[in-house]
Amino acid sequence: MELIRRGKVKSVYDNADGSVIIQFRDDITAGNGAKHDIIEGKGILLNEINEIFFNLLNSHGVATHYVKKFSANAFKAKKVQIIPLEVVVRNYAAGSFCKRYGIEKGKKLEPIVEFFLKDDALEDPLICKNVAALLGYATFAQLDRIEQIALNVNQILFDFTRNHGILLADFKIEVGFCDNTILVADEISPDTCRFWDAETGASLDKDIYRHSEGDPLIGYREVLRRISS
Ligand code: UDP
Repeated sequence: MELIRRGKVKSVYDNADGSVIIQFRDDITAGNGAKHDIIEGKGILLNEINEIFFNLLNSHGVATHYVKKFSANAFKAKKVQIIPLEVVVRNYAAGSFCKRYGIEKGKKLEPIVEFFLKDDALEDPLICKNVAALLGYATFAQLDRIEQIALNVNQILFDFTRNHGILLADFKIEVGFCDNTILVADEISPDTCRFWDAETGASLDKDIYRHSEGDPLIGYREVLRRISS
């Protein structure tokens, strides 16, 4: 299969039938690639976690790119034209939100949606809907629709993870166009979500790696164990 794109942690291959095969490699990165490591087994683990979340969204009628598992560390997806925006939903303050606004980690937020421009050279700046529309990334109406989709995804993921002892603090999704429909694309995993132990508040996600707090796969395996039970 022809490699279409090699991202920081995933590779995308063209599939003969017009779909794509997305492979999770064992790379882990943080700080816009400033920190990088390979952790054996990470790709397989993420593929399993991502499969559960996308099957959940599909079963709730959310339009997504996810088709099915392809191999231990890869899945088949519809080919989409990705909108270069990172769509972040926050239930609790963490990460860049705390830094930007001087807010204490853990403050409960009404779910809020933020857009960031996906541009490594500009370090993914926060972008408001007016500017995103002005620069032509999507129409204002499409951005409103994306916001609704993100909040719906949040409700589904929040309720599901809470039932498995996990607090979903925040997450990022990407969306794209396929046959004039907006689909949820990319991945949903501990690399792109903040999962907190509902009892202790301990991170079970990439913050373990960002803050060099031990083996992130211990947290990732715990997420998989909980959402599989
Ligand atoms: N996120 C992501 N990719 C990015 C930036 C953020 O998946 O390039 C996720 C991150 O894991 C968290 C949420 O989006 O779950 C919000 O991230 P934040 O804006 O707080 O930035 P960070 O602290 O990751 O720099």
